Order: sequence, then structure tokens, then C-alpha cells
Amino acid sequence: MTPFPRQDYASLRIYDPGRRPVPVDLSDNTNLWGPNPGALARIRSASPDDVRCYPEVYADTLRAAVAERFGVSPDCVTTGAGSDDILDSAFRAVAGPGDTVAFPAPTFVMAAELALVNGMRPRPVPWRQALADPRTLLEGDPAVVYLCRPNNPTGSLAPGAWVERLLDLAGPNGPLVVLDEAYADFAGETLIGWAVERPKLLVARTCSKAYGLAGLRCGFAVARPEVALEVEKSRGPYKVSRLTAAAAAVAVRDAGGWSARTVTECLANRERLFRELVDRGLRPQESSANFILFAAPSGSAAEDAIALREQGVGVRPFQDIPELGDALRVTVAPWPLLERFLEAMDRRLAALEEISR
Ligand SMILES: *Cc1c(COP(=O)(O)O)cnc(C)c1O
Repeated sequence: MTPFPRQDYASLRIYDPGRRPVPVDLSDNTNLWGPNPGALARIRSASPDDVRCYPEVYADTLRAAVAERFGVSPDCVTTGAGSDDILDSAFRAVAGPGDTVAFPAPTFVMAAELALVNGMRPRPVPWRQALADPRTLLEGDPAVVYLCRPNNPTGSLAPGAWVERLLDLAGPNGPLVVLDEAYADFAGETLIGWAVERPKLLVARTCSKAYGLAGLRCGFAVARPEVALEVEKSRGPYKVSRLTAAAAAVAVRDAGGWSARTVTECLANRERLFRELVDRGLRPQESSANFILFAAPSGSAAEDAIALREQGVGVRPFQDIPELGDALRVTVAPWPLLERFLEAMDRRLAALEEISR
């Protein structure tokens, strides 16, 4: 008898980020300034064929837009239904069941999830250890090293020189280094240029954050042509829908326009929010992304998140964050929304004060 589910799936749980509808949702780092207006206009002008016909087999129009924007050849570009799809496909292109996926932790939860779903073994290495010596990420010959820069959920930006050292140590016969740049627009720097020079570096981007297109599920990545080709094969044909590819291409080409303006406002609000959190003694972490991680005031992130949610504000709770313990991650948004968050937080702090008296 064939076991059902397959043995290594028995321990897997369905993904549940605990996201119920809430009036002010600052829990998922999407763009609260809205979607890229050009991309939305493209969706609104949909033709019958946009829906009736299959998309391009390998999203060539979108690949061309990405290639032009980042000054690389189109055969260096791969795409997917969200960058999660690209990470998944990239893992599968180079690693098989039983192989190791190493990453500095804490990081994006999907890195471990995707490793497990593919029968691979996640190998978290504490950030402090990884930063002190990148060789710690290469112990046990992983097939993949996943690196999130800026890192989710901490917001920190690993130094470029450190990434360079890791790539030198990994070498052409080592693991595929998957660099997740979901938040690079907010850091003002990218290592995409390295991806076409290094033999085994894939730099992944998403349309879900700065471009404001999370509902479309679209991501793209850059690597050397021989790496990009394997990821395309692993992901398979027809994965990016016609309207998604067309709208995403508009957003990619418009990077200096609307998205750049919302990023500028986001960075100003990030500084302002940081100071507000410092003033409340909440130990915010320096962030290069569109969110800030800070200490959970009660010591229980889950309880604080519920208390804020009851006031109509959603944030994301985390446990076991180095130097913080329980922590909350809040997405940087237009200031009136952050004001709602700060008001809710002040009521929470007052309630905790009351309890401790
Ligand atoms: C939000 C996020 C993504 C985006 O995933 P999509 O599948 O493109 O929506 C990727 N990586 C990280 C670290 C993220 O936080």
C-alpha cells in the first residue's frame, strides 16, 4: 500500500500566517500606498484575448522588461507566480530529496517551508554565527544557501562584502546561492549585477511589495543563463498569467516613477516611526525594508498582536528573535495608518501599565 500522505508530508501543516481581515492591516509588508497605477490601468483595459488565450509559454515580454530595466540579457531572467514560486523552482532545480537548504536564521519562513515541501532538509544557522564566519553556512555541503537581503523579519542588511566572501567561499562547485531581494527597493541597493558575473547566484525579486501587486502573484529573478534555464525548466510553462505578466511589465518599466515616489515617502515614515517606537522604549531594529521589528511590550508577541487586532490594527508576531525575544513586525504605511497603529499601541501600553500596578 502506498502511504498517504507521503511520509515526509505527514508532519507538514497548512500555511497559516494568522491573517484575518482587519481594518488597518500592517501585517504583510504589502504597499499601503496602493498598486502601481499603470499596472492597474493595464488590467482595467483587458481584452477578451487576455482572458481567452494562454499566456506566453515563458513570459518573454515580462523577461524583456526586466532585462531592459536591470541591464542584463533576457536569457538571464526567470519569472514565476510570485517570488515564492521562483524560490521553490530554484530549490528544486539544484537540490533533491534529502539535500540541505542552509540559511541564516531568523529569516523568511518560506525558506524552511519550501525546503520541507520538496523533501529537503532546512538548516538554520544563527545570524550572529553566519555573519561572524560565512563558512558556517557551507558546513555539511548544502545544495542551496538562501539569503534574504534586507532580511525579513529583522530588516537588517547583510554587508555586501560579507555576501562577496560567502560567494567566494561557495565557489563554482558549491551551492546555489539564492539571494532574496524582496525588499531591495527600500534599501536603495541591489546585487542583481553580481548575478550575471557569478556562476551560481540567483537574485530574486517580487512584484508584491514596492510595486503593490501582491494580488497578481508575480516575481522575477536574475542569474547566469545556464542557471536561469534550469529554474525555468523546474518551474514549468504558462505559470505567469497574461494579465499578470502585462501589468507586471508596466510596473517594472515604471520603477523610477510611481513606485520610487512611494518608496521615498515610505523611507521618511520609517524614520519617523522608528523614533516614535524608541520614545516608547520598544527597541525598534534598524531596518532597510518597509517594516520595523520591535520588542513585544508585554513579552508575549501573540498576546500583544491580539490586543492590537481587537483595536482594528494587524501586526505580525514573532518569537525567539535574537536580542528581542518576542517581537512585533509592523509594515510602514501612509502616516494616518501609522497614527492608528501608534494610538492602538499607546492604549495597549497603558493597559499593561494598569495591570502591573
Ligand atoms: C513578501 C516576500 C516575498 C514575496 O513573495 P511573493 O511570492 O512574490 O509574494 C518574498 N520574499 C520575502 C522575504 C518576502 O517577505
